[in-house]
Amino acid sequence: MTTLDAKLDGVLGAKTGKALDSALGLATVGDLLRHYPRRYAERGELTAIAGLEIGEHATVLAQVERVTKRTMKSRRGTIVEARITDGHRSLSCTFFNQAWRERELLPGRRGMFAGKVTAYRNQLQLAHPEYQLFDSESTDLGSAAEEFAAALIPVYPAAQGLPSWSIGRCVRQVLDVWSGTDDPLPVALRERMGLADLESALRKIHRPQNFAEVAAAQDRLKWDEALAVQLVLAQLRGAAKSHPAPVCQRRDDGVLAEFDQRMPFELTNGQREIGEQIAVDLTTEHPMNRLVQGEVGSGKTVVALRAMLQVVDSGRQAAMLAPTEVLAAQHARSLRELLGDLAMAGELGGADNATRVTLLTGSLTAAQRKKALLEAASGEAGIVVGTHALIQDRVSFADLGLVVVDEQHRFGVEQRDALRARGGDEVSPHVLVMTATPIPRTVAMTVYGDLETSALRELPQGRSPISTSVVPVAEKPSWLDRAWARIREEVAAGHQVYVVCPRIGDDEENSGKGKKKAAKSAVDDSDGGGEEPPPEDGEERRPPLAVLDVAEQLGAGPLAGLRVGILHGRLPADDKDAVMRAFAAGELDVLVATTVVEVGVNVPNATVMVIMDADRFGVSQLHQLRGRVGRGSAPGLCLLVTDAMGGTTTRERLDAVASTTDGFELARLDLELRREGDILGAAQSGRKSGLKMLSLLRDEDVIARAREEADRLIGADPKLREYPGLARMVAEVVDADRAEYLEKT
Ligand code: ADP
Ligand code: MG
Repeated sequence: MTTLDAKLDGVLGAKTGKALDSALGLATVGDLLRHYPRRYAERGELTAIAGLEIGEHATVLAQVERVTKRTMKSRRGTIVEARITDGHRSLSCTFFNQAWRERELLPGRRGMFAGKVTAYRNQLQLAHPEYQLFDSESTDLGSAAEEFAAALIPVYPAAQGLPSWSIGRCVRQVLDVWSGTDDPLPVALRERMGLADLESALRKIHRPQNFAEVAAAQDRLKWDEALAVQLVLAQLRGAAKSHPAPVCQRRDDGVLAEFDQRMPFELTNGQREIGEQIAVDLTTEHPMNRLVQGEVGSGKTVVALRAMLQVVDSGRQAAMLAPTEVLAAQHARSLRELLGDLAMAGELGGADNATRVTLLTGSLTAAQRKKALLEAASGEAGIVVGTHALIQDRVSFADLGLVVVDEQHRFGVEQRDALRARGGDEVSPHVLVMTATPIPRTVAMTVYGDLETSALRELPQGRSPISTSVVPVAEKPSWLDRAWARIREEVAAGHQVYVVCPRIGDDEENSGKGKKKAAKSAVDDSDGGGEEPPPEDGEERRPPLAVLDVAEQLGAGPLAGLRVGILHGRLPADDKDAVMRAFAAGELDVLVATTVVEVGVNVPNATVMVIMDADRFGVSQLHQLRGRVGRGSAPGLCLLVTDAMGGTTTRERLDAVASTTDGFELARLDLELRREGDILGAAQSGRKSGLKMLSLLRDEDVIARAREEADRLIGADPKLREYPGLARMVAEVVDADRAEYLEKT
């Protein structure tokens, strides 16, 4: 009996078993059968060489174009160089001291070639290539060796020393002795969804006769992935809901009512709708678990504050958590500002039903801390603001009704669980999570599936449109001159300009000491550029442009005569303040800065942002950056300067940013581009857990259906006692590292 649990070394022999394990992390029959082909090659097809990514371990079907043999002068020996082609482009494969290859690699012969793609002097190469030639001169793959006999040749994610065809051979051997498996899906469900059974799906995914069989197998395997994750999430939702929660009724004579009356602006429709959802959630007997997504400036603070006030009105407390001390302090300040005398309970001039906002962070003095802890414990503080440490520390609350978490991205499921436990043994507080990073619906359903989600899509009135253009300096050098000219015009019209660079460019930067220091300054931990995508050519890239250099060059050249200031994370705090104040006061025309300007800078008179080496920043970072302009009455302009060439994924990312200012759409495009990159370059795929077949982008309907089905199943049978197969699927997901989903998005 060879089951999915059987060890591969028992089936394939110790040597092969070890190779599969060490190269790809595949230890069991199940692991290997779930190592799915990345794609399928058709008879006679040649792989497009233009689509290869530098650095990937590629498997290409190609034809030998010509072979040359040379003798090396320095070392004694020979080099055989074969150029292989897809009919359009060619790749070179080099062999040292293997002169006999010249006799085998005859021009016109076809085969599969595998190796790491590198570039040398603008020529693509396969390093340490392995290959397998098809029979004789025949271009008909059907007559080739046994592994190529099928109509569709599976191409596997491979590794050095373990080419796709070797993996294919192992899979075939395993399938020959595999005794099959019970299907975890209930038959009724399978029939209703029109899904193949698991065993045949696993067989067909590796040995399909045609693409229809591939599709049927994929449908089934995707469904399993989607359902397993959704079952886990449905269980989490169910468990969270099973606790009693502090019921917080609305009152029309409390602080909230008072606050609403005094609010200096009208709520946006989105704020009103989400506010209503939350208000209802808070009155229910089970804890709210809600995620509010809304871009920077969409007005999340007010939404959170109104929820907190409803809780305060019912005699309970709310805690607000921020990722850093600086942000926590900022929150406390802006809440106090918004509340005015409504936050001055017990103080001179406090309003009648006022409450108190207490800041509790690590940098308080012992005396301040003691006071803050007391205010939390006594219930005097209606709102306690702090860092995430609030949940780890043994801070006690008199009656914690609601926890608001700002900036979801640094906050995992486990931490949310810890939070819920803070309410004591019985009661779990309501949880409201806020993030400024738009998350596509499918990702939200998967990664944050234990939360209900709401999106705040509209910005408050009075924001001006921002238009964005890519300035491709490699192709259109003159556009950059025009950009600087445009900036001079803008300044002449009385406006101000940001120029953002990925790097500071001081001496400290490359020393470890400098790095550490930068990491410590909390406000701009993003200083020095973003998630940098891998380079698209194999050659050395020049270092990213630096603030200090760019400022000097601009001041001496294209922007001579303008008042140019510098801002970055390693300036002393006082200097930073001074520069910001000068810029805000209009005493500087141009601010050359790192991404420090991403957070908390608000200068309505700034209308243009030029982002140098824009390709070195992540999509969402670019989006956040440009949100700094267009804050006043004049429209904003953002220029993305890059030397990335047209047609590359890098350029596509920038074009995507230029094409829309809708953060949600952008998040979707980003996901799409990254997945595409994944698919093309998915060489290193030894990963065991996570989503292999399911695409968060393309399989939205599968995910949505799986979610419904999971809710139904868990609703009727929370522990899945009647479905041991499903319970096993769930256990596997729980074992797998959740972080991987996050990482993948
Ligand atoms: P974020 O969603 O980034 O946390 P904030 O809550 O800080 O955004 O709001 C950004 C700014 O917009 C604040 O100055 C806030 O007072 C203001 N604001 C919020 N809601 C509205 C509204 N409905 N109309 C006008 N201004 C608003
Ligand atoms: Mg905010």
